[in-house]
Amino acid sequence: MKQKKYFFIKHFLIIFIPISLFVLGVAYFFFQVQASQLYGHLKLSSQASVDAGRTTISKNFDVITSDLLFLANEQELKKSLDNTTTLSIENIKKQWTSFSAIKKNYDQIRWIDEAGLEQIRINYNNGKPYAVAKENLQSKISRDYFIKTQQLTKGEFYISRLDLNVEYGKIEEPRKPTIRIATPLITKEGKRRGAIVLNYASSDMLEQLRLANKNHLWLINKNGFWLLGPSAEDEWGFMFQKQELNMAHRYPEAWSYLSEKLNGTHETPEGFWTFNTIYPLHTVKISKSTLNQQLQPSALHLHKLKYAWHIVHFTPKNQYRPQLKAKSFQVGTTSCVLLAILFLGTWKLTHLQQKEANALTEATETLKLQRENEHIYAEKMAKQTEELQATKISAEQANQAKSIFLSTMSHEIRTPLNAIIGFTHLLEKQESLPNTAASMVQKIKSSGRVLLGIINDILDYSKIEANHLEIKNEPFQLNDVLDHLATIMSSQVNQKPVELIITPPPEGTNFLQGDSLRLEQILMNLTGNAIKYTAWGEIVVGVTSVNSDQNSHRIHLKFSIKDTGIGIPTHKQKNIFEPFTQVDTSSTRNFSGAGLGLTICRHLVELMGGQLHLRSTLGQGSEFFFTLPFDLSTPYGNLTAKVTNQYILVADDNSTTRDLCTRQFCGYNLSSNR
Ligand code: ADP
Repeated sequence: MKQKKYFFIKHFLIIFIPISLFVLGVAYFFFQVQASQLYGHLKLSSQASVDAGRTTISKNFDVITSDLLFLANEQELKKSLDNTTTLSIENIKKQWTSFSAIKKNYDQIRWIDEAGLEQIRINYNNGKPYAVAKENLQSKISRDYFIKTQQLTKGEFYISRLDLNVEYGKIEEPRKPTIRIATPLITKEGKRRGAIVLNYASSDMLEQLRLANKNHLWLINKNGFWLLGPSAEDEWGFMFQKQELNMAHRYPEAWSYLSEKLNGTHETPEGFWTFNTIYPLHTVKISKSTLNQQLQPSALHLHKLKYAWHIVHFTPKNQYRPQLKAKSFQVGTTSCVLLAILFLGTWKLTHLQQKEANALTEATETLKLQRENEHIYAEKMAKQTEELQATKISAEQANQAKSIFLSTMSHEIRTPLNAIIGFTHLLEKQESLPNTAASMVQKIKSSGRVLLGIINDILDYSKIEANHLEIKNEPFQLNDVLDHLATIMSSQVNQKPVELIITPPPEGTNFLQGDSLRLEQILMNLTGNAIKYTAWGEIVVGVTSVNSDQNSHRIHLKFSIKDTGIGIPTHKQKNIFEPFTQVDTSSTRNFSGAGLGLTICRHLVELMGGQLHLRSTLGQGSEFFFTLPFDLSTPYGNLTAKVTNQYILVADDNSTTRDLCTRQFCGYNLSSNR
């Protein structure tokens, strides 16, 4: 049971673990693809915002620098630089006022002369440009932007940092993000005449960026302070000495990455960052057609690479995290469902596998058991065969011993028995013997003969069983055999109303090659039986030739012994040739005998190449017949009858006998008359 459980778990895990790992791998890959799509989208949109911001700033700077150059190259201003008159001043004021009214985003347009005094100043306040009265013009000799511009050569320009406008030492409210851009004014003769300064109000530009990006796009100066930030409160920290309003302070990880890389994307625990660095001066493009000479930013103070802002797009985590979570939930749920199906499928499969394995194990065990049984059976069989073999050998040995015993005993009995028969025969001939004694001697003699017959049968049977019986092959005359048969048998028939008829051999079959004694023995036995079991009627011993080729030296002769005796019942006919078989086995039977005669006859017929058959009807008679092959032998002796071409009278009360005699005499060329 424990083993089956272990098998189940082992096979289950072998299938389930790799498949589930594969499913999880695919799910992870799918999630990664989804996540990277999301990040790609995030990156693209934030990058587009950053690029749009850069373009807006660049365009604004293009416009400012173009405007500055346009004003610096005005003819009226140039004339005035050589020869400043009230008229020329008034003309410039008019021109600059209308310029300010059109542009709307220059808070101040000024000419500050070489002594630092404002010569012209056009203010733009609450949507109205106006020229400041002469008595209100101020000296700006100590201002940073004036000092620095005075150090520039012709063609160079100064751009201040972007900060809030300060009026009379105070940050102006509402806040006015401002950039001062200035270029020195130098006459053809090279005389310095101060500078032209534009105060550019950047609020429009910043507002434009803020609205377009819903506070996600920030503009940060190179120190990390927001110029455009998450909210108005976070901006301009450097103006209010609030160091905490600094990206480096609030988002240190993002800031350190930004300061190092300058552009790119980065994700921190706070969210997703896309940033770029803009060099406003680097983006300034000045048309040559507008200028006689190209203006350059000051190499001294305004190195274009030092003057940098960072444009940062920030997407807080809570804005894209839910999407990511939804995707992971989707993938996770699908994976879980798949794993559940796989779990069930694998469970079912393993269950089936286990069932099959169990069946296989059972079959194997049964087979093993069968083999073991077969093995045991084979061993048993081998043992039995061995035993049988031993038994057979011992049986054969016993049989052999029995046969030897029988033949020895038969032989030993036969010798005194022959003496007894011989002396009774001599005694029978004694004339002086009284009648009773003569009759007793005669009975002794006939009993002795019967006993001798039985002993002869036993001897023959034991020889047959021991395979010691040999068939001779010698020339003989069939006539002699039949004559001898007739002589012996007719004496037995004597007292019975039975006619014994023995037919002569067919023509040309007298001289044969074979065992005449054994043939005679068969015929004697069968004829003897016929006499024994026939109370009246006739017994015919016939010989006919069967299928004999005239030219051949080999013939087949059919012998038949037919009687009109008691016959043999059908159910006994099958076993009648078995040893010790008799039709009447009762103790009161009329006929003597050991039941060996037919067995010996059958064996002898078979040894001579034939088959002994029986045809019998109970109460009507029996016929024993067999066919034997013989080689013809060369005729010998005097064959010619002394009496030829004579008429002979055949007289007998039996018609069969008369027929036979007639046929026999024809063989000797004698005619007969019955
Ligand atoms: P047995 O010595 O008893 O005659 P056999 O082997 O010669 O032994 O014959 C076996 C039995 O066959 C006989 O006992 C007899 O019953 C039966 N038998 C043999 N020949 C004849 C026959 N011609 N007619 C009737 N019965 C016969």
